[in-house]
Amino acid sequence: MNAQQQVQNLLDFIDASPSPWHVVKSVETQLEKFKFVKLIETEKWALEAGGRYYVVRDDSSIVIFVQGQKPLVQTGFKMIGAHTDSPGLRIKPQAATGGDGLLRVGVEIYGGPILATFTDRDLSLAGRINYKDDNHKIVSTLLKFDRPLLRLPNLAIHMNRAVNEDGLKLHKQNELPLILSTIANECLPQAYFTQLLQEQTAGAIGRILSWDLAVYDTQKGAFWGAENEFYANSQLDNLASCHAALEALLDETVLASDNTLVCALFDHEEVGSESNKGADGSFLSDVLQRIALATEKNKEDFAIALAKSFMISADMAHAYQPNFPSAYDADHKVTINKGPVIKVNANQRYSTESVSQAQFIDWCEQAGVPYQKYSHRCDLACGSTIGPITSARLGIRSIDVGSPLWAMHSIRESAGVLDHNYMIKVMKRFFTH
Ligand code: ZN
Repeated sequence: MNAQQQVQNLLDFIDASPSPWHVVKSVETQLEKFKFVKLIETEKWALEAGGRYYVVRDDSSIVIFVQGQKPLVQTGFKMIGAHTDSPGLRIKPQAATGGDGLLRVGVEIYGGPILATFTDRDLSLAGRINYKDDNHKIVSTLLKFDRPLLRLPNLAIHMNRAVNEDGLKLHKQNELPLILSTIANECLPQAYFTQLLQEQTAGAIGRILSWDLAVYDTQKGAFWGAENEFYANSQLDNLASCHAALEALLDETVLASDNTLVCALFDHEEVGSESNKGADGSFLSDVLQRIALATEKNKEDFAIALAKSFMISADMAHAYQPNFPSAYDADHKVTINKGPVIKVNANQRYSTESVSQAQFIDWCEQAGVPYQKYSHRCDLACGSTIGPITSARLGIRSIDVGSPLWAMHSIRESAGVLDHNYMIKVMKRFFTH
């Protein structure tokens, strides 16, 4: 498959996955095509060498693994980690308010989005709804509006004369509610809103008890640039990494590897990973332990397996934007379409160290893939990701890498077509070495 086709698949994957709950659903659909078996945490597992499995926790985190033919004590786990969530806006529980002839929906800020990019866009809703079915059982279902439903109209420049000098600042409590309708005076706002949700499921659900609803951008992904060498979409951080990991894994030659391969895609990275399904929770270690107990059956064997393991933590990196040179370390300019970025931070905001770097460089060279190194400016706070957390929790060697990206945490991010291909190639090499 060529690089352009791989990115088209990525854009389709993102367009079908407007919330972390939809992401996991999309991943499951892919896995079913490759005959993966879903394991349930509340049941006993019987694993076979060469078997393909996955485990979902709370609908938005997933651990996928292929049980290797070789014993774990020999190979350890070869893991790639990434995250299913992206920063943005989430609908509050008492969502709808009326007044001034308009019905608006209250939102909470999830993680650290660039709020100004959410204005004047064709926004909509997607997520998970919980309700009681006819047998009084609580059921969860996914919900998605395919059409633009919500909007955050900007203030006209005539009322915000300094916007181009001072930037667009939005008050987080007062200025973010999204406009939904003019219906305000004829109904109770919350009742109207929940009825809208119910109608969207074509009446398939009973009384709604609760929801997790994310605001998403209905604009589809696109290629751009003179040679179509760039692409843009929402949620590239970090669905591009999730997609690269899946593309690397879901290849019959890779799946036939003797190694035990793992892809761990976590929710809640953008808010610190501390939850039952986040990278700082027990999910991954629980799954790895159960894999070991179902096969090696010995705690020391598990410890040996961990000591032999390696994790590539994949999350997007900051590409150099020449309009803003002062934002970057002049010696660590990372260029779009020049290969995976190794992220280095002495203060362990990234899990990379010199040995894991050397290892990753070797895999890049074996795969014929160029690579770059990134270090954040010393006078700017550096971001972090799941690498340091998982590496610390499990005690395994790890590296933080990512494809270069412009406008991280904008609702419309951009990256390079070749970089996606390079990342998939080096991940395949890692899985099969
Ligand atoms: Zn990220």
